[in-house]
Amino acid sequence: MSLSCFDLGERMLSVDEALAAILGFASAPPGHATLPLAALVGRVLSEDIASPIDVPQNTNAAMDGIALAWPGGQGGDSQALPESWELVGESLAGHGYRGEVPKHAAVTITTGAPLPRGTDTVIMSEQLEDAAPDAAGARVTVTRPETVRVGQHVRQAGEDVPRGALALTAGTRLAAEHLGLLASLGVERARVSRRLKVAIFSTGDEVTAPGEALPMDGIFDANRFSLHGLLAALGVEVIDLGILADASQAMVAALRDAAGSADMVITSGGVSVGQADWIKPALAETGELGFWRIAMRPGRPLAFGRLGHERVPFFGLPGNPVAVMVTFLQFVQPLIRRLQGEHAWQPVRLTARAEAPLQSRCGRVDFLRGVYHADETGQLWVRSTGRQGSGILSSMVAANCLIEIAASSAGIEAGEAVTLQPFMHRS
Ligand code: AMP
Ligand code: MG
Repeated sequence: MSLSCFDLGERMLSVDEALAAILGFASAPPGHATLPLAALVGRVLSEDIASPIDVPQNTNAAMDGIALAWPGGQGGDSQALPESWELVGESLAGHGYRGEVPKHAAVTITTGAPLPRGTDTVIMSEQLEDAAPDAAGARVTVTRPETVRVGQHVRQAGEDVPRGALALTAGTRLAAEHLGLLASLGVERARVSRRLKVAIFSTGDEVTAPGEALPMDGIFDANRFSLHGLLAALGVEVIDLGILADASQAMVAALRDAAGSADMVITSGGVSVGQADWIKPALAETGELGFWRIAMRPGRPLAFGRLGHERVPFFGLPGNPVAVMVTFLQFVQPLIRRLQGEHAWQPVRLTARAEAPLQSRCGRVDFLRGVYHADETGQLWVRSTGRQGSGILSSMVAANCLIEIAASSAGIEAGEAVTLQPFMHRS
């Protein structure tokens, strides 16, 4: 079933329905850039990359020692390995041995050096009587030939990535290991989706920027800064539009401008139906409201829509700081990742046992702030951070995960299995 969020009216949606509707909204990634490797960390690849070479290029030694051809080849008998070997040369990393290796002769070899033609086995220095024999002409003795195995300590050409194999696929978010892998293929640039621009602003007459004097009825603006952090972790360029007062006409203008300069607009506060709640009327003038009631806690109310004639996605997040972070992680993050081209993304979910009973209500998904740990047997356990009010931002700081209690559950008993989502935005 495909749900269009604009067909959903104002009925209460399940978390899954809301997410499906939001993701169904995603359109093609908005452009690409080809950048040098060092600039790619955190970006999402928008091309498949096949390896132009075998990695490693040559079959090579995994240890320092001597390289030799096992008598009788792969089927050879390890008991039959001669103890004493004549050295005919050396193969060094970056300077391979190009000659022939006669039967019953060996070359000294260093880690990473190509195996000379015909050789198939490396005996490491520790298995030799003289760990550093002089190269040509010398003889070396293997201390315990019966412990040597045919083919040991050899890395085969192409064993990491064979030539022509797909090394990375489009949609991969690039981290350190991906950059290293691309470099090992000799790739110096790659095409990634262009950085998304996301405009954010806070709303509310009481909301005050940190650094200003706190008015008697004021509250400092937490949401813009937790949003900065969450967006930065996704590699997004943030357009910070500050704080808007609860005045509808200013909001309409701000939303319109934001839609003109950003790929997505996120606000917090002002989405309920209170007197100063302006989102609905403002959206009615500048866009379309998708839906705004989702069966979850915290996180109600939440608005999703399209803004301006650019029809950019719009999230009207709740005002309460915990609700902002929870709804961002559950709904905004998946859409951002989808727009960046990361199609297969799912939050990491683990199963843990509850240390103590956890409260939840049937009919809505409860996201509690939790702390999980592994006991000495490896079993995961999780407990609540304590008070769960959606204004208690210190609960997010105390937590290392969200505990996700399904809508079908009326509460979790001590020892019962429960799902958690570890905090990945803060590693
Ligand atoms: P609202 O949805 O506008 O009614 O806001 C719900 C609650 O969140 C109120 O207690 C607001 O004061 C609070 N709130 C709204 N915006 C912010 C913000 N940017 N930072 C911290 N608290 C906020
Ligand atoms: Mg408000």
